Amino acid sequence: MASPQIRGPGGQPLQPGTLFAIGRNYAAHAAELGNAIPQSPVVFLKAWSSLAANGSAIPLPPGATSLHHEVELVVLIGKTLSRIAPEDALDAIAGYGVGIDFTDRALQSQLKAKGLPWVKSKSFRGAACLSDFIAAHQIPNPQDLTLRLWVNGEIKQDGHSGQMIYPVAQLLSYLSQSHDLLPGDLVFTGTPQGVGPVVAGDKVDIELVDHCRATFTVTA
Ligand code: ZN
Repeated sequence: MASPQIRGPGGQPLQPGTLFAIGRNYAAHAAELGNAIPQSPVVFLKAWSSLAANGSAIPLPPGATSLHHEVELVVLIGKTLSRIAPEDALDAIAGYGVGIDFTDRALQSQLKAKGLPWVKSKSFRGAACLSDFIAAHQIPNPQDLTLRLWVNGEIKQDGHSGQMIYPVAQLLSYLSQSHDLLPGDLVFTGTPQGVGPVVAGDKVDIELVDHCRATFTVTA
């Protein structure tokens, strides 16, 4: 697969660091998968080699029977964050984009049942789709954004970041208590309700309304 050509907020090629991701950050999505509301953020990682830029083909992972789309607001870190307070967290954000946390749901369910890590179901080739980023100053309030996803032109997810259980500032503060967040790190902030399967041949469009869009095609 060609290396991703994702652009940072200044138009420069993104040099991605660690990809943090948050699970169950919208109550209605937790409920649709039968999960309880978490007492603290659910954190996992995706490999940077799973990134795919706008326009990429996303190959179905080997053996996948239920590849699910999850549209998410993605935060690009611009400054080192270590044990920061929520009120100081937004200043460290360099940009915002929209992405898909593709998930092999059947495999994830098997892994969850066995208490095993989710990596194989969340970090395969093409599992982290991303738009280009816009500069953080263009988004004064990350909790006032609309996220949408279409499959073959039909809207499947239409969420609002104001519905997050843990807002962006709180997520970054929480992560920075145990991890140093570094410039170039990305945080996938969780998906609203409406996740569902895609199959080979499907065209998936995502939008951070009024800000950025990207399109991906699922292939066999
Ligand atoms: Zn997700």
